[in-house]
Amino acid sequence: MSLLIVGTVAFDAVETPHGKVDRMLGGAATYAAVAASYFTPVRLVSVVGEDYTAREHAIFRGRPVNTDGLERVPGPSFFWSGRYSPDMNDRTTLDTQLNCLATFQPKLPAHYRDSRYVFLANIAPSLQLSVLDQLKRKPTLVALDTMNYWMDTALDDLKTVLRRVHVLLINDSEARQLSGHHNLIEAAAIIQRMGPKAVVIKRGEHGSTLFLGRHVFVAPAMPLSRVTDPTGAGDSFAGGFMGALVKAGKHDVAALRRAMIYGSVMGSFAVERFGLDRIRRLTPAQIHARAKQFRHLVHFDL
Ligand code: AMP
Repeated sequence: MSLLIVGTVAFDAVETPHGKVDRMLGGAATYAAVAASYFTPVRLVSVVGEDYTAREHAIFRGRPVNTDGLERVPGPSFFWSGRYSPDMNDRTTLDTQLNCLATFQPKLPAHYRDSRYVFLANIAPSLQLSVLDQLKRKPTLVALDTMNYWMDTALDDLKTVLRRVHVLLINDSEARQLSGHHNLIEAAAIIQRMGPKAVVIKRGEHGSTLFLGRHVFVAPAMPLSRVTDPTGAGDSFAGGFMGALVKAGKHDVAALRRAMIYGSVMGSFAVERFGLDRIRRLTPAQIHARAKQFRHLVHFDL
């Protein structure tokens, strides 16, 4: 079973207390696809410009990532630049250049249209919607990630697509912005009424929480002595989370709880190096070993 992913494939400029990179491959779909590819085959839908070359494309080589849905167009790729606060809990977006994304109309290759598992990574909500509209039949599980940029510029479209989503993955400040509520339990309840039955609220180094009806599950973040670059942690979390669900072939509470841990595992790897440097070089054994560390981290007897 494959996981269909739509989102940005981008160039990023990132500044953290540990250094600065002026230009590197990034994008929500890139992180999510690489992370998910350790669990399940991926079908990628995105757009890149002329500045995206074989060098960048090498990230997908040797992985079960089908890139027939990655369109190449004239002009530059999507570009994002951000700076992290000294404690890395906050980041400021310095620049967002939509470039080729501004006119992108995703066309799903015919062999993608039977996809049953879909991850709508961060991209314009109208594009997320268009991908859902092109599926041959109602998908089994649709998850969505978004950010404040789209809440500020395309809130109506976002609310429309949310009605067709099962799982929303969102960070705490975005959950507060979307719901208009500060308390995250209240916020999750309000968001659940917008469509997604399950809401995963990510809180960086404080871990993430799954709200599913009255069911709540908390996954810690891995305590790391050094976080180099938090960029892409959320997307890697989502890739691990969805990848684990597709691999399990079910999405009951037990599968969702396990997926939360695999999300945390992939997010924890992502932040160890700049950009995709860490998650592009993992082995299944390393992923399994870290999942076991997580189990140890939260185990206790009563
Ligand atoms: P994350 O740190 O998980 O929130 O994701 C960071 C990635 O999201 C970067 O690699 C950016 O290229 C990408 N990104 C930043 N802003 C946007 C946006 N408005 N829409 C889609 N992707 C974005």
